[in-house]
Formats: sequence, C-alpha cells, structure tokens
Amino acid sequence: MKRIPVSGPWITSKEIEYVTDAVTHAWYGNANVYHERFEQAFASYLGVRYAIALPSCTSAIHLALAALNICPGDEVVVPDITWIASVAPITYLGATTVFADIDPRTWCVSAESFASCITEKTKAIIPVDLYGNMPEMDKICAIAEKHGIAVIEDAAEAIGSEYQSKKAGGFGDAGVFSFHGSKTLTTGEGGMLVTAREDIYRRALVLRDHGRPPGDRMFFNTEVAYKYKMSSMQAALGLAQLERIEELIERKRQIFQWYARGLDGIEGVTLNYEAPDTRNTYWMVSLILDPCLGLTKEDVMERLSQDGIDSRPFFHPLSSLPAYDGLLESIRAKQRNTVSYAISPYGVNLPSGMNMDEETVGRVCAALKTILI
Ligand SMILES: *Cc1c(COP(=O)(O)O)cnc(C)c1O
Repeated sequence: MKRIPVSGPWITSKEIEYVTDAVTHAWYGNANVYHERFEQAFASYLGVRYAIALPSCTSAIHLALAALNICPGDEVVVPDITWIASVAPITYLGATTVFADIDPRTWCVSAESFASCITEKTKAIIPVDLYGNMPEMDKICAIAEKHGIAVIEDAAEAIGSEYQSKKAGGFGDAGVFSFHGSKTLTTGEGGMLVTAREDIYRRALVLRDHGRPPGDRMFFNTEVAYKYKMSSMQAALGLAQLERIEELIERKRQIFQWYARGLDGIEGVTLNYEAPDTRNTYWMVSLILDPCLGLTKEDVMERLSQDGIDSRPFFHPLSSLPAYDGLLESIRAKQRNTVSYAISPYGVNLPSGMNMDEETVGRVCAALKTILI
C-alpha cells in the first residue's frame, strides 16, 4: 500500500497553463504582468488595499516588522505554539520575543495571556491563525489599540478562514500568507504581505528591493536592505490557484468532515474546533489525545508510521526548543504557558494533503482506532 503523505497541493491543467504562459511570455516588457494580476486578485479577494508578492511568508513577516521599525530593545508578543517562521524575524531584527499562552479550544494565542505579556517595551503582537483556526481577533485588536501596539496577523495557514465574517489576514496593521508546497494555496515557495496602511506598503516596497524606491531607474540605492521577490512563474501558479480558492477550501473542509465522522465516538480525542463566529479552513486536521489514554504524540506518530501513514507533531512550545534555550523569556514562558505545555505533548497533525479522498481518510481513521481503542 502507498504511504500517505501529510500534506501536498492540488494542481490542475489551469495551473500548468498559467505557468507555461508565464515562462513563455512573462519577460521583457511583460515581466511583471503576473505579479500585478496575482497581487490585485489577492487584495480584492481579501478586501484589503495593498498586497505584495514575496518569496516566502518568513520574508513577509521580516518586512512587516522592519517596516514598523522594530528594533533591539523592543518586545514582540507571539503565541508559544506556532511554526518558528512566525517569530524568527523578530530575532533577525535584534528584538525580544515574548511567548504568550494559547487558548485551549482554538489553540490560537489567548487574548488574556497577550494582555498579561504587555510591558512598556511591547511594540507588536503576531497572532497566528493556527491550523486554519482564528484567535479572538476582536479582543486582541482592542487590547493592541489601547496600548498602541501594532498587529501583524500570521494567516499562513488560514487563507479563506473567517472571523466574524471577515477574512483571515485582513485584521491588524498587516497580514502575511505562505504559499509553501504544504499550504492550502501554493506557489511552490512564496508568500504575501497585505496591509491597509500606505506607510507600511511604501516602506516594504523599498526594503524588499535593496533600498530602491519603486520606479528607480538609476540603480541609486538609498539604504542597505533586502532582496525579497517572487518570480513570474510562481505568481502565475498563485493566480491559477487563487482562481480556484473556493474549491481548495471546500476540499480542506471536506477532509475535516470525513475525519470528524470517521473518528466520531472514539473516547479521549479532540479535533480542531470551529467557533460559531469562525470559518475554519482546517489547514491540518489535528487531534489532541486525552492524557488518560497513556499515549503521547510520539507514540501515535510511530504507530501510524508503521501503518504507512505520515503525520506531524503538533507544534512544540517555541520556548521549549533548543533554538530559544536559556533565554529569560523562555524561562518565563515555561512558567506562564500552562495550556501550551499541557496540550502540545498530546497533539498530532493527521494527513491533510489536497489529494486525500474519503477512502484514504478512512484508512487513517481505521489505523487510529486500532491504536486508540
Ligand atoms: C508555513 C508557515 C510560515 C512560513 O511560511 P514560509 O513561506 O515557509 O516562510 C509562517 N507561519 C506559519 C504559521 C506557517 O505555518
């Protein structure tokens, strides 16, 4: 039997057609045609003013923080549970990362924990729409506004998710997306920075092109900056995927429903939560084991692997990683973030690739039943 991979895209003839057109025609005077189409379509899909296509989400977060002038001595609050890409750029800029706890149901940053992390040095928060779910953005934005803190929403895993009928990535001062091959919409590698703020937009355009103002034809750099650009072939792939976005999201939601039905009635497992005011796009179907079962995420991953099924560990608390070892903020986080530390050892991401069908989900559910019952 074929191994079941944990993630992967859904590519059709439309994508192949657009990329073929880009590699054939998007040169010389047409070099930016696909970027413009992709950025405009993306901004209008989200209902935001500006969108900049980038080589990754990591670069989008780096640019957003840099455009907000985050400096050494500044503090940026992040959820303790997320992919390290959400937060690594804080370190690139020499600022301090502060790890807040998560909400036990949404697994996203807790508004209360965020509030408790604020000091006079706090300059920004990066709420993460984890596994396609949404944090309580109304509370988070209100707290941030009250304290004059910028909000960068990491919607890398949540294209098309909604909170109170507003799309993920459209909250706060800036939003960022990833189009890595594992994500719901892919360009192979890629990312997007969106914002309603003209100052952030203009600043990001200069910073992402080696300190050249847009339109500079004299190659007259005004500062030392970065080089963060997407290729036309990636933009064409992104545009084709975006034109199929509802279909892509429906597939993700369908995969979750198959799992929810397949695992219904099994004691001691909790799947992704969807609050009444939220549309979850379930980037990764995940389950949390009740500790009573006596199994950890490593145990379940190992057993699934023996059955030819790949899975991933629910994110480890960042403050527990060797990468952040010994830092004062990690020591504080280990005391404070009881929910992150309670859930993470028992969480597993199940195969959620766009190629999953009902039968394949059934195979995973059957394997889980033999492990859990
Ligand atoms: C995938 C991901 C990123 C990073 O995306 P890249 O495009 O690989 O840089 C950032 N944040 C979260 C939450 C992610 O899942």
